[in-house]
Amino acid sequence: MTADQPRAALPLRPELAGLHPYGAPQLDVPVRLNVNENPYPPSPAVVDDIAAAVRTAAATLNRYPDRDFADLRADLAAYLLTESGVRLDPSQIWAANGSNEVMLHLLQAFGGPGRTAVSFAPTYSMYPEYARDTSTRWVTGRRAEDFSLDPAHAHDVIAEERPSVVLLASPNNPTGTALPLATVEAVLAAADEVPDGCVVVVDEAYGEFRRRGTPSALELLVDHPNLAVSRTMSKAFGLAGGRVGYLAAASELVDALRVVRLPYHLSAVTQAVARAALAHSEELMAQVGALRDERDDLVAWLRSKGLTVADSDANFVLFGVLDDPHAVWQGLLDRGVLIREVGPAGWLRVSVGTPQETAAFKAALVEVAGL
Ligand code: PMP
Repeated sequence: MTADQPRAALPLRPELAGLHPYGAPQLDVPVRLNVNENPYPPSPAVVDDIAAAVRTAAATLNRYPDRDFADLRADLAAYLLTESGVRLDPSQIWAANGSNEVMLHLLQAFGGPGRTAVSFAPTYSMYPEYARDTSTRWVTGRRAEDFSLDPAHAHDVIAEERPSVVLLASPNNPTGTALPLATVEAVLAAADEVPDGCVVVVDEAYGEFRRRGTPSALELLVDHPNLAVSRTMSKAFGLAGGRVGYLAAASELVDALRVVRLPYHLSAVTQAVARAALAHSEELMAQVGALRDERDDLVAWLRSKGLTVADSDANFVLFGVLDDPHAVWQGLLDRGVLIREVGPAGWLRVSVGTPQETAAFKAALVEVAGL
């Protein structure tokens, strides 16, 4: 090629033209309440055990890791039995680098060209990206005014669109809304009517934060071979940096995911870190209880200030309705508090932090919004 020959354009897929990578701003401010992380770093005991496990794993890093991560799957099944009372065989567990990757595997296996995935907005903004990246047609129904899902509407959308995948977040992001099991069952019944079959994914990334008495969709697995319940260690376990998500489903469904995964997708280091953290699940769950209480207090405080707040079963709260949410977001940021502009117009989302972080958020909000 000579200097004056034009360079060929990159052959980017047309549907990616002009798009930016997904992700909230990663700003270095004192109070970060924008991506629903657990505000508590791992305790010294957890750090020590993770370090020891990684040291052991390091000694064999010349070898590829266990491709099927049998030990991790057994540990995750044991954890789910304690957490939700649902007994699962390790062959019913799948894991990947964050639940984002778990759900991408689901779309790789069950979506694809000529197929449709359905969800109900407002919901997690990565879902359309899984669809886009697997060339799956993307359709959204809607949630009601109070962010609940009307089973009749869900049925109509599924009957009309005949999706091969339905994605339901429960508790939902950004609203915090958990779905009653009756609604999930109604969606499963509608999915059973889709002639070529339909997988229903219940994304319980925030499942551990659900209020007492709210059941997990894990309870429905026994009767539904087309149900997948996705979880993550990023939130309740405080392991967002470890990148471990997982799901529970019938072993036949898991076997389909094994076909699309890249070989050795879960590194030996990742497996070691996850197993070390899971060994501390009891103390970590006590911390989840404290975060739940902090969440309930925050909801009550925001309401006492005259704001509208969506009921939350998660570790974040969606509040509104603000005339100029961007100005409030910016005013908080100017005071060192980063929250998230996401979701329906007029609403903002704040993650539950430590008591000190929540106090900083409240003080800043009082100033900025003149509450
Ligand atoms: N599902 C929902 C509803 C989420 O909000 C998130 C993270 N924000 C995820 C899945 C993905 O989390 P991870 O990949 O860290 O497991």
